[in-house]
Amino acid sequence: MDIRIGNGYDVHALAEGLPLWLGGVKIESETGCVAHSDGDVAIHALCDALLGALALGDIGKHFPDTSSEFKGIDSKILLARVMELVRSEGWEVCNADITIAMQKPKLAPYIIPMRECLSEIMGVSVGQVSVKATTTEKLGFVGRCEGCEVYAVVLLKK
Ligand code: MG
Repeated sequence: MDIRIGNGYDVHALAEGLPLWLGGVKIESETGCVAHSDGDVAIHALCDALLGALALGDIGKHFPDTSSEFKGIDSKILLARVMELVRSEGWEVCNADITIAMQKPKLAPYIIPMRECLSEIMGVSVGQVSVKATTTEKLGFVGRCEGCEVYAVVLLKK
C-alpha cells in the first residue's frame, strides 16, 4: 500500500472583539484570530498537513493572503478545495490528528462538533479525525493568550 504522512503547523495572533473559528466551529470567546481569512488556525494546519503529505506546497501558495478572493473566506472552503486536490491525485485520508494549544477558553465542549465538521468536509468518519486541546500552562505566547497554535498530522493512502 502506498502511504504518505504530512505535518502542518500554524499560529495566529489573538485580538479582542474578533470571532473565533476553530475546526470549522464558532467558539464562544472574548478573543479571535487576526487573519486575512476567517482565521481558522486548526483548518489551516490541517490543510498544510494534507498538502505536505503530497509535497504540494502550503496553504499560502494555494490561497495567497494577498488575494482579495480569500479575504474573510470561510476556511471550510479552503479545506474542501485541498481535499479535492488530494482526491484528484488519487489519495484518500486514513486519519488526521490535530492538537490545538490555547490558554482559554476551554475547548472541551467543542471537540466533538469540530471532529464532526472536519470529517464531513474530508469525507471520512468521525473516528478518523482526532482533535485534542491543550493549554501551555500559562507559558509562552499561548499561555499569555496572545495567540493560538495548532499542530496537525495526517496519513494518506492510495
Ligand atoms: Mg493561518
